[in-house]
Amino acid sequence: MDDAGFDRYSRQLLFAGIGPLGQQKLQDAHVTIVGCGALGSFQAAALARAGIGNIRIVDRDYVELGNLQRQWLFDEADAAGALPKAVAARRQIARINSSINVDAAIADLTAANATELLEGAQLVLDGTDNFETRYLLNDYCVRAGTPWIYGGAVGSYGIVMPVLPGRTACFACVYPEPPSGAQPTCETAGILGTATALVAALQVSAAMKWIVSGEAPAGIATVDVWSGEIRRIAQPPPDPDCRACGRREFTWLESRRRTPISMCGRDAVQIHELSRPIDLEDLAARLRPLGDVRRNEFALRFETPPWVLTVFADGRVIVKGTIDIGVARSLYSRYIGG
Ligand SMILES: [Zn+2]
Repeated sequence: MDDAGFDRYSRQLLFAGIGPLGQQKLQDAHVTIVGCGALGSFQAAALARAGIGNIRIVDRDYVELGNLQRQWLFDEADAAGALPKAVAARRQIARINSSINVDAAIADLTAANATELLEGAQLVLDGTDNFETRYLLNDYCVRAGTPWIYGGAVGSYGIVMPVLPGRTACFACVYPEPPSGAQPTCETAGILGTATALVAALQVSAAMKWIVSGEAPAGIATVDVWSGEIRRIAQPPPDPDCRACGRREFTWLESRRRTPISMCGRDAVQIHELSRPIDLEDLAARLRPLGDVRRNEFALRFETPPWVLTVFADGRVIVKGTIDIGVARSLYSRYIGG
């Protein structure tokens, strides 16, 4: 480590759990963040400040004004430009720590691209907001033997659980099925930026500890920033009957089906059935007579009130203004075709 490194990380080097050897491990580490919203943007900033040498950020969405209350890395200019979150995060991180490598992938994690996006990660941080992506992430990580740190938050409440394949229960051991019935979501229950920050801080701390020592804090942490209650409950051992880590049936990785999904807290639906590159320039020319079209180098935004369609170059579209998948599908075929 050079003098600038000693200077930059001096307080972390003094911390007995890390020290110069630990710092070197952090510098050599490769961590992938899946989902760069409230959890992921805090994780990205914290990892960058701590000097994690290689960070990959995977996110499918773009920055909006309503994100700024809890998504620590982004600012008003990012929202005004509707920048993809992965790109906005990479830009901000370059200002925080220019000595690390940051790779931004504007993509939705699916069975088809999971290996490409997650390969090479020493550890994965969960910044997603839905069970489906977490099952997929769990399947990939259990199969590959890659640790990942689950985190979730809604309202003032949050939960963190490290998944160390072969050592701890996996996500599917603890949640064999997605929760049934209506669950509180950030759409219905709101969410505090401090709850997501606390969850993300616990996730990043667990990641750093694992990178440095091969250990992670044991157990499942639950926190409530409003009541002030913080608990740690025992994490069960791996369940021999678990579909994923016991029977090794990685059904989420084998599914090639891409279903439209409504996005938590966004009044929006994502459609990504048409997995082919789209010529955004060509599409812009076609849509201009029909409504307001704006473009940046990553996406096209087409406004036809009350809806806004954001089209990415990989063929994905986010339809804002509805949570009805049928409506979104019909707008998709009307304006994008396919
Ligand atoms: Zn399991």
